Amino acid sequence: MTQTAVPADANDAGQALWQSCTELLAQELPEQQFITWIKPLQATVSDDFSKLTLVVVNRFKLDWIRAQYAARISALLNQLYGQPIQLDFALMAKAPAAKVLPVRGPTDSEEFTGVLAASSNDTVLNGFKNRLNSSLCFDNLVEGTANRMARAAAMHVANVPGQLYNPLFIYGGVGLGKTHLMHAVGNQLLQNKPDAKVLYIHAEQFVSDVVKAYQRKTFDEFKQHYHSLDLLLIDDVQFFANKDRTQEEFFNAFEALLAKKSHIVMTSDTYPKGLADIHERLVSRFDSGLTVAIEPPELEMRVAILINKSRSEGAEMPEEVAFFVAKNVRSNVRELEGALRKILAYSRFNQKEVSIQLARDALRDLLSIQNRQISVENIQKTVADYYKIKVADMYSKKRPASIARPRQIAMYLAKELTQKSLPEIGELFGGRDHTTVLHAVRKISAERQTVSELNQQLHVLEQTLKG
Ligand code: ADP
Ligand code: MG
Repeated sequence: MTQTAVPADANDAGQALWQSCTELLAQELPEQQFITWIKPLQATVSDDFSKLTLVVVNRFKLDWIRAQYAARISALLNQLYGQPIQLDFALMAKAPAAKVLPVRGPTDSEEFTGVLAASSNDTVLNGFKNRLNSSLCFDNLVEGTANRMARAAAMHVANVPGQLYNPLFIYGGVGLGKTHLMHAVGNQLLQNKPDAKVLYIHAEQFVSDVVKAYQRKTFDEFKQHYHSLDLLLIDDVQFFANKDRTQEEFFNAFEALLAKKSHIVMTSDTYPKGLADIHERLVSRFDSGLTVAIEPPELEMRVAILINKSRSEGAEMPEEVAFFVAKNVRSNVRELEGALRKILAYSRFNQKEVSIQLARDALRDLLSIQNRQISVENIQKTVADYYKIKVADMYSKKRPASIARPRQIAMYLAKELTQKSLPEIGELFGGRDHTTVLHAVRKISAERQTVSELNQQLHVLEQTLKG
């Protein structure tokens, strides 16, 4: 259990707790859900911190929030505070004279679109919204082998649009930075050419625009709007699946834009031929420019992203903590950001410096899910990553100190953290003799007593491996 140091004034502490909780929710929930349901909530916390009450403007919202979010909010509060806190809901005493929203189901997309549009920071140029998020740019998109090609191609398009790589088709799994890259292209192009007509749109929004144009018989306007663009950024085109009318309209827009050398950038969760239920003629168009993948970020890139992001949040993350987190959160950047937010919220609320121990506490849910058994293989990989050598060098016969030493460290950790015998460990290190392992174990454990730098490195490795 974690020691919880709450700020002196219980009321401030309560607000700080709720603030930290909303920060975590903000990164878990889709933006529009967060803005609609969570952001307007006000919290009061009882003096003894046994109860947190959320005040909601009306009954409808109260029921919805209780049904949809109460469990998650409770879990987060418990996690942040370190002890269970009862969660209550109350209606606001007097309803404010806000505009009355029509009573609709909460999944009504028009309502969400309205909320989102009102809150986004679009630049309006000649009455024209580009829907770009100006905070997503090339500067804060960390480069690594995972995204180098896509980033370079996108940068080229932004600087010299309408020529090479048209259309540019970027694909990859969730949370790998596709949307970020698209916004970066738009923002960069606008920086070079402020008058350019740029539009960022999610494929689902395009579908809904088509439906609206269809219902309102405003196809001419629709066409005029889309066909006049200099740069169309269309995100997640896999959502066009089975939407025939949309695909047709998109095909038309596509042809019109390419004919006038406007640029098109698309993203998807798969490469063009992997798209299901999209017309063949469209698929072959998608593939007619440049198709590039974004891969999951490698360890070093994850470390760099963590350090960069926390700096941009005004906090310094020590490299060893970044290494610990990057090693344990691997799947994508969005999850990495989630982990970072948890750590920063936890650090802020508990008024403690960011350390491996703090990261471990803040991420304990996530780490316990992984429930990893420490294997020799895992040790070899972690140590190789840490000292930036190849895993293969753990079994190789190479002897330069830059390799031999990390290998000895890995042997030492294998002895310390697993149940394996010396001969078994020797076997797993490329068939070495058990005396070689014994020598390594003795040497490293003796050195550890006197060389504090080594001790510190071993500490980081142990923490990382124990997860
Ligand atoms: P996708 O569209 O591929 O699902 P996003 O572009 O939404 O992913 O990225 C998820 C989050 O991760 C965003 O907050 C984004 O800013 C961030 N992100 C992704 N890749 C990088 C990167 N290379 N450097 C910095 N931040 C990144
Ligand atoms: Mg995306």
